[in-house]
Amino acid sequence: MLRRLLWPIVFALILVSAAVGYTYLPRPYNPFAPLHIADPLTPMTGFKLRRLRSDPAYCTTALQTAPLRTVPRPDAGSADCPLPDVVQVQSAPIPLSSTFLASCPLAVSYAMWESHVLQPLAQQHLGQGVRRVTHLGSYACRSVRGGTRQSEHASANAIDISAIALSDGRSISLEKHWTDDGAAGAFLHALHKRSCDIFTMALGPNYDAAHHNHFHFGMGGRFGLCR
Ligand SMILES: [Zn+2]
Repeated sequence: MLRRLLWPIVFALILVSAAVGYTYLPRPYNPFAPLHIADPLTPMTGFKLRRLRSDPAYCTTALQTAPLRTVPRPDAGSADCPLPDVVQVQSAPIPLSSTFLASCPLAVSYAMWESHVLQPLAQQHLGQGVRRVTHLGSYACRSVRGGTRQSEHASANAIDISAIALSDGRSISLEKHWTDDGAAGAFLHALHKRSCDIFTMALGPNYDAAHHNHFHFGMGGRFGLCR
C-alpha cells in the first residue's frame, strides 16, 4: 500500500517545490524567469544564456533589458548567408569602434559580457574603467578557416574583439599584450577565462595562429569551446 503511494507522493512533492521555486526564487537564480541584463551572474546564468539560442521570444525579452541601441536589419545578409533575424548594435554603454550586426543571442551576450565581465575585470586588474572596445567585425559570409563548416560569423553569431582602451587612454591589444607578464597580460588572460562563462565559443591566441590578434566570442556553436 505504502509502496504504491510512494511515487505519487514524490511526484507531488516535485511539483510543489517547482511551483514554490518559481514563485519565490529571486530572478537571477530562477531558471524559468527571464534573463535580465542587470542581474548578477549566478550558476543559473549559463542555462539562461543557452536558452537564448533555442527560444527567440525569450531572447527578444532579454534584449529589451539591454542598455544597447539596436535597430532591426531584415535587409542584412545575402543569398549564401541569410540573416533572418538580426539587429545592428549601434551603441553600447562602452563606445564601440564601429557598429556591428548581431543575432539576438550575440547582442544579449555582448551586453552581459560588457557589464559583468569586461568592466569589473578592468577595474580589478588595471584599476580603471574601459573607454572603448575595438572589434574586427561580426558578420562575414565564410567558412571556418581551413574547413568547409560555416563560420559563426556567417550568421552574425560571433564578434572578434582586438583591443580594449582604458579610461587613461592606454590601449590593451591582444597582439601586443597577450604575452605581457604584467597587469595587462593578466587582464587579457582573465578576460578570456571569464568570457567562457558568457559565450559558448571563446577562442583566443592560444587556440591557433589565426586568433593571434583577437578574441572570437560566439553564440552559434553546437558545442562550447573555451581555448
Ligand atoms: Zn571570429
